[in-house]
Amino acid sequence: MIDILSPPGLSVLRSFITPQTLCAFDLDGTLAPIIDDPAAVALPAAVRQAMQQLCSLAPVAVITGRGCDDARQRLGFMPRYLVGNHGLEGLPDSSVNLTELRVLIDHWASELHRLLPSSIIPELLFEPKAGSLSLHYRHAADPAAAHQALLEAIAQLQPQPRYVGGKYVENLVPLGVPHKGDALLRLMEHSGAATALFVGDDETDEDVFRLADPRILSVCVGTGRSTAARYFLQDQTRMVDLLAQLLLRSAAVMPGGKHG
Ligand SMILES: [Mg+2]
Repeated sequence: MIDILSPPGLSVLRSFITPQTLCAFDLDGTLAPIIDDPAAVALPAAVRQAMQQLCSLAPVAVITGRGCDDARQRLGFMPRYLVGNHGLEGLPDSSVNLTELRVLIDHWASELHRLLPSSIIPELLFEPKAGSLSLHYRHAADPAAAHQALLEAIAQLQPQPRYVGGKYVENLVPLGVPHKGDALLRLMEHSGAATALFVGDDETDEDVFRLADPRILSVCVGTGRSTAARYFLQDQTRMVDLLAQLLLRSAAVMPGGKHG
């Protein structure tokens, strides 16, 4: 893996970005730092300003696990594409029925309340969304034990969800619906982008990284876990440096921009 901000990484970035490159980002842990309270997550001012500038220079997408309304309030800029619920919400021409999915999500939530040991339930944060159910165990007295109990209960759910782990969270998603990788490919098609940059930090972003599509430059934020991404960014605080490089490059390749 190569540090995208190292000289070899920057050289690849510079040759990769064209005016037809879709610049796509995850939100939590990528554009915004992870904090204890998911409800208080927001973009640092410098990241927000850089993203506003990037939106005027390049096609930009944000693909997040949050619902679109929730994400929109935190961004402070309007990307061309905002896709929520890991790819279920906001995709152009999508046939996903969010109302049907919500019935399934509520069914899973009530089943988990029945299946889980009652001592564990108050330690978990259930976050039902339109197309997914996030189960946070960050605040459990023994997070490893809570996680194990959660996995055992999830294994008994019918119909079985697809589940994707994150940092102290399991995300349950119905099988057969689009994930982040499907979403990015759809956005490339819709925008006519020949290539895409995608930056993300957690398990749900691996659905993009695992595509291993040569048209996609994949960057994983953080170095603490195994990933299918080819490039990494040391940590979320370096996001602003990556955006500065993207702005330089996007301005240089804009029609009428300076050559670079
Ligand atoms: Mg993330």
